[in-house]
Amino acid sequence: MTYPVPGLEKWRTPPDTLCPQQGPPGGVYLCQVNAEISCAACCGLYNVPDPSPAGLAALLARRSEMFAKTPRRREAILSFRGAVRRIEGHTRPVQKFHHCPYIGLVEPERRRAGCLLHPMAAGNDGVDFRSLSHYGALACRIYFCPAHTALGATYKRIVQLCAGSWQLYGAVITEANLLHSFFNSVERRLNRSLATEDIVDRPAAHETVRRFLELKFSWPYRDAAYPSPLHYFFKDPLCPKPSIDYGVLGVKRSRHHVILNELASAFRNAAQLSAAEKLIDRLIVDLAEAVSTRIRP
Ligand code: SF4
Ligand code: SF4
Repeated sequence: MTYPVPGLEKWRTPPDTLCPQQGPPGGVYLCQVNAEISCAACCGLYNVPDPSPAGLAALLARRSEMFAKTPRRREAILSFRGAVRRIEGHTRPVQKFHHCPYIGLVEPERRRAGCLLHPMAAGNDGVDFRSLSHYGALACRIYFCPAHTALGATYKRIVQLCAGSWQLYGAVITEANLLHSFFNSVERRLNRSLATEDIVDRPAAHETVRRFLELKFSWPYRDAAYPSPLHYFFKDPLCPKPSIDYGVLGVKRSRHHVILNELASAFRNAAQLSAAEKLIDRLIVDLAEAVSTRIRP
C-alpha cells in the first residue's frame, strides 16, 4: 500500500531567495512546500484572536476574496490593509508582534497560506508589492527563521511529510527545540538516526508524528496564559515560554523537560506532570515501534 503523502520529489526549491543557486540556510526550504503545506508564522499568522485551524482558514479565505477584488495600485492596496483592520479589529494576543494583513491563501486553488503581495501570487502579474508591507520588500524576501539552521534536514522533511495542513505545519515548523527533542528521543530509543524513508509508506509512523505535532493545538497542560499555537522565536523576549517550577511540584526536572517547556506547560501538581510525561513516552514508543515495522511490498 502506498500512503497518500507527497513524495520527496515533489518538494519545491525556494522560489524567492536572493541567491537561489545557494538554496536556503540549512538546505531545506521551509516556507512554501507544496500545494497545501506552507508557513507564515513570521508574518504573524498565529497572532490572531482565533488561531484554530478553522478560524485561520476562514480569516484567510475572506481576505483572499477581498484582495482578489482589489486593484493592484498603491492606494487600493493600502486601503485593503485599512479594511482588514476595520473588519478584524486591532486586538492581538501579543499586541507588539506585527500581524500582516496581507497573509492570505495563495495560488488559484487557495489551499495554503502565503503572501498576497508576492510577485507570484494570483493577480500580481509578477509585480512585487511587498514594499507596501510593514517590514518592507527586502525583509520579506530574505528573512529565514532560526529553524532553518537549528533543525536537521531529516526532521524538517518528516514534518513536511506529516503535518497534513498549512495550519499545523506553520505552527510546528518553527519549533526547533520541540521537534529536535522529540525526534532525538525516538532516535535514542532506536539507537540509530531517523531517516525520511522511515516515515514514507508507513501509515502508523506518519500518524504518530501527526499526533505529536497536533499537541501544538491540543496540549492539555498548556499554560492558559500562553497564546499557543503562536511561537515567538525572535530574539527579543516579547513572549517567552513559561518556565516549569519543579520545586513547587516537589519533583526533579522532567526527562521530557524540553518538550514540556516548549509546549508551554503549566502543571498544578506532580500527578499532572507524570501524566504528561507518560503521554510523551507513549508517542516516543509508538513512533519507534512504527518505524521498526517492515514495509509490506
Ligand atoms: S517562520 Fe520560518 S518557515 Fe515560516 S514563513 Fe517565516 S521564515 Fe519561513
Ligand atoms: S508582506 Fe511580508 S509580512 Fe506580509 S505576508 Fe507578505 S511576506 Fe509576510
